[in-house]
Amino acid sequence: VSPDYDAIILGAGAAGMMCAMRAAQRGRRVLVVERNDAPGRKILISGGGRCNFTNIHTAPDRFLSSNPHFVKSALSRYTPRDFLALVEAHGIAWHEKTLGQLFCDGSARQIVDMLVEEVTRAGGEFAFGQEVEAVTHDGEAFTVRTQAGEVSAPALVIATGGPSIPKLGASGFAYDLARQFGLKVVEPRPALVPLTLAGDDLLFRELSGVSSEVVASAKKAKFREAALFTHRGLSGPAILQISSHWYPGESIAIDFFPDLPADWLIAAKREQPRRRFDDLLGEMLPARLAGVLAEKLELDGPLQELADKKLRAAQERLKRWPFTPNGSEGFAKAEVTVGGIATAELSSQTMEAKKRPGLYAIGEAVDVTGWLGGYNFQWAWASGHACGEAL
Ligand code: FAD
Repeated sequence: VSPDYDAIILGAGAAGMMCAMRAAQRGRRVLVVERNDAPGRKILISGGGRCNFTNIHTAPDRFLSSNPHFVKSALSRYTPRDFLALVEAHGIAWHEKTLGQLFCDGSARQIVDMLVEEVTRAGGEFAFGQEVEAVTHDGEAFTVRTQAGEVSAPALVIATGGPSIPKLGASGFAYDLARQFGLKVVEPRPALVPLTLAGDDLLFRELSGVSSEVVASAKKAKFREAALFTHRGLSGPAILQISSHWYPGESIAIDFFPDLPADWLIAAKREQPRRRFDDLLGEMLPARLAGVLAEKLELDGPLQELADKKLRAAQERLKRWPFTPNGSEGFAKAEVTVGGIATAELSSQTMEAKKRPGLYAIGEAVDVTGWLGGYNFQWAWASGHACGEAL
């Protein structure tokens, strides 16, 4: 029996569609099997509906993985410029926001339509509304079973993403399948996710809606962006970024005054001795935040009445304010997943499983996670393209 297709790609998300496009352009007969009724649901909601489709500062150091070298080959062979060329060829208007982030002027729908058109034009096929129930391998071909029946092919690509945002159809299916074929999985954790506060930090939850530019740090990672207080704890880009580096039980540190020198409070006391402490903080930070910080520091009154020792301790604390989150908002709110199919199992050139020829894994399913800001899509495009070149 001759297999139905050259390759079956599981998942019509960012990585799966890029892979299908490239393989079909190279003359491969490909089928993309998708459980949802339509492709690219995460693309549609990404970037607030405008899809932050890449980042011009893409470089290997913007990705977390057990093997930080793994991303290098694919990222160098399919760059943000390459994706941008595709976007422009489709006449999609775009703009750069802060920090090298590229967005559609119009809607994320344009990116989904572009990918579907490319796959279809090259002769690739889609099967929507078909959840993969089981996969088997008989020594020659992989057989994929869905409610609609069975299809088989000598190559199978796992592009079913990670478990973040289950209500969009996300699940740990990729990991189950990888384990079935003997591949190791690095323990998945929610990432780019708000962190929750409790106990001693409960007072900060009263600041819901307040935001401030900070430097958030955890171990060696540091991000300077806005932090946002929420009714459950901490969010905003600086916190989402640091969440990818945070493990339960650990603390993170916030520098509320990234631009001030270390001794600023002592200097302020010399220059403006009669200035009230809370008033000084309130000039530089949102008033409600200043109020809570002053209350926590138990400092009140004119600077001249406060001992240097106390002010030194306060300025140090404000530069490295420790928070110990009691958790995160979990996969329900996480933009991505840290961890996934172990990179040690895959060729970084082709994304093929070393001990399972014909089996490939791409995109978020793999233990590669980008920073916030378009890096996760760039990984999906680059890994999908590398795989599509190899099929
Ligand atoms: P996905 O896009 O998740 O695609 C996987 C596909 O597989 C899905 O369509 C799913 O339905 C399908 N599937 C799963 N299981 C099965 C099964 N058993 N059978 C058949 N099909 C199955 N990244 C950025 O770079 N920029 C952004 O602006 C951005 N914004 C985001 C906003 C939100 C709210 C979220 C949640 C994520 C955002 N991301 C962003 C991250 C980005 O969406 C992901 O990194 C990216 O979608 C991963 O692509 P993927 O193809 O690997 O997986």
